Amino acid sequence: MNPPLRKREAMKGHWSRFARPEAREACGVFGIYGPGEDVSRLTYFGLFALQHRGQESAGIAVSDGAHISCYREMGLVSQVFDEETLHRLKGDLAIGHTRYSTTGSSVIANAQPMVMEWRGGQVALAHNGNLINARELRHELEAEGEHLEATSDSEVMVRMVVREANHLGSLEEGIVACMPRWRGAYSLTLLTENEVIAVRDPSGVRPLCLGTVNGKATVFASESCALSVIGAEFAREVQPGEIVIAGAEGVRARQAMAPAVRAFCVFEYIYMARPDSTIGGHLVHEVRKRLGMQLAEDCPADADVVMPVPDTGWPAAIGYAERSGIPFGEGLIRNRYIPRTFIQPDQRLREMGVRIKLNPLREALEGKRVVMVDDSIVRGTTKRGVIRLIRDAGAKEVHVRITAPPYCWPCYYGVDTSNRSDLIAARLTSVEEIRREIGADTLCYQTIPGFLKALRMGEDQLCLACFTGEYPIPIPPDVKLSKLDLEEPACRLGEETT
Ligand code: AMP
Ligand code: SF4
Repeated sequence: MNPPLRKREAMKGHWSRFARPEAREACGVFGIYGPGEDVSRLTYFGLFALQHRGQESAGIAVSDGAHISCYREMGLVSQVFDEETLHRLKGDLAIGHTRYSTTGSSVIANAQPMVMEWRGGQVALAHNGNLINARELRHELEAEGEHLEATSDSEVMVRMVVREANHLGSLEEGIVACMPRWRGAYSLTLLTENEVIAVRDPSGVRPLCLGTVNGKATVFASESCALSVIGAEFAREVQPGEIVIAGAEGVRARQAMAPAVRAFCVFEYIYMARPDSTIGGHLVHEVRKRLGMQLAEDCPADADVVMPVPDTGWPAAIGYAERSGIPFGEGLIRNRYIPRTFIQPDQRLREMGVRIKLNPLREALEGKRVVMVDDSIVRGTTKRGVIRLIRDAGAKEVHVRITAPPYCWPCYYGVDTSNRSDLIAARLTSVEEIRREIGADTLCYQTIPGFLKALRMGEDQLCLACFTGEYPIPIPPDVKLSKLDLEEPACRLGEETT
């Protein structure tokens, strides 16, 4: 590590304490095996396309066939890498990562990829997801004399792989040996001197796909939008429980674990994934549009205009307008240069943050009865700010329509929504109370049956735990309790709507 980087790490590690987002999301992973290609630049473009999945830190590890070099830093992809850094990352194969912490704090030690030595060479790992038994595994490693430097579950994973690989004499066998011990969500890309490896947990909680560039380079990415951006063609998804290895002999796949109960995170469709990604054969934009159409059927409104909360609400608002016959209109303009992690240290500044992010179009709103379509309500803070903004700009009525069912339970699989008491749908006892708190004229959530109908996917394929409290991968009691600061009654909102 060169001295200037160390200096920057120390500085940013200190400041990053203040950048606490309200609710945090999954990370983005990328990998490419592409002899003859400018793999670090392609990884940079891939990470750029995955920037929405994490804005805390970014990193790229590259192998030239003999040695792995890695550069990681706090900040956005465009802040972390410049021409000189990319130029120094020379090689034929690479992996990359954009991070949003769900386990471990926001410091450079937790940035990825993480690189370690094993007796056969080096290995780098990039992880999206969250292990629910990370604490237990960490204690086991510590008891065996390992000194862990980071606080994330990803370091636990790479150290476990190294230990098993040392023992078995093979990195691939090391990964296979670890998989049954990792419980929870993991979509991984790993890099050795000669191979890029993709691994997905047996429930397939987080997305991971595979593509090719000109039939030569093999690419792995969290979302297909990162393939298109570098001209790669989507081939297929990495299957739950599968390991796919790209190297000099081509691409080889291995079903390392039998697929377990399928538990793909529905929040990828609702909010997290980019609308131009295709997941599970469904274009995310289309899914969101269908959710809006379903909402128009189940939650009609007497209004003059249907307006999205940008950006996630757009496709759903188009769907709502199309199905309801109410004209679609833009009423809020988003400042595109504000990252999702915009610093909002207290309530007053958080509310001001809404005004900095979104500016109302007075001409479009004045005297109008507005249907405001958005993807979800987590704490309700943003919603309250946006509604006030629209009213201040002259809207006569604001009818809020939400494409997700009430968000009642915390996530343990890689979307950090803090504690249960932070969730407005868990804290309050009726939709009417939520409506009052956010200041809407009417509020209507998608029902779970309506949601599943619009998704066109079987309930048995999906994780719906944040709506139902039924966690498909059992959560250890101590871990569950850590976020259940509110007594356990089932979500009291049911399918009631206002
Ligand atoms: P609020 O109205 O304060 O509950 O904020 C809800 C909004 O936050 C949604 O409309 C999304 O745009 C966004 N959101 C939803 N889920 C998450 C998440 N896991 N992390 C960050 N933002 C989220
Ligand atoms: Fe996704 Fe919710 Fe399940 Fe978490 S609990 S994986 S956010 S569906």
